[in-house]
Amino acid sequence: MIKKALFPGSFDPFTIGHEEIVRRALPLFDEIIIGIGINTSKKGLFELKERKVMIEELFTDTDKVKVDTFSGLTVSFCELINAQYILRGLRTAADFEYERTIAQLNQAMHPNLETILMLSQPQYSMISSTIVREILRFDGDIKPFVPENIYRHIMDRQNNKS
Ligand code: ADP
Repeated sequence: MIKKALFPGSFDPFTIGHEEIVRRALPLFDEIIIGIGINTSKKGLFELKERKVMIEELFTDTDKVKVDTFSGLTVSFCELINAQYILRGLRTAADFEYERTIAQLNQAMHPNLETILMLSQPQYSMISSTIVREILRFDGDIKPFVPENIYRHIMDRQNNKS
């Protein structure tokens, strides 16, 4: 059976912190599905389709990474796609407390599903999608925080708007 992991998140937008987690996790799994979770109560900055296209473009160098969108419980989506692992990144102690609760809840619901928590590299631990959105809102430079293709995509989008 192939080892399949789901890397779930909002990825609004995908950052170099996210990319680093996926690339470091690649040797551990046969396939990683980046699952963009649909938050029904919150409209994101980037459309789901737009997020998906940007992330797909970033991983064209490997066929081990696929991108999908999902709604509902993460465990249900894992069941649907036959993923045995949930991959999450840890930046801070606060992340850990949050992830521990979610991982234990998921394990209670689905005992065969393992959550793998991967520590971010120190230089990426201050990067979050929320910070990138804040910088964008005030016309700051997001280049150091997002992958090159995503930077270009976002800049094109900003220029088309103005
Ligand atoms: P969510 O809204 O579910 O927290 P995010 O898109 O913010 O989704 O993040 C998805 C996953 O990536 C989470 O596990 C988060 O902790 C992790 N992550 C986010 N930013 C970083 C980073 N800079 N380094 C490592 N992991 C990160």
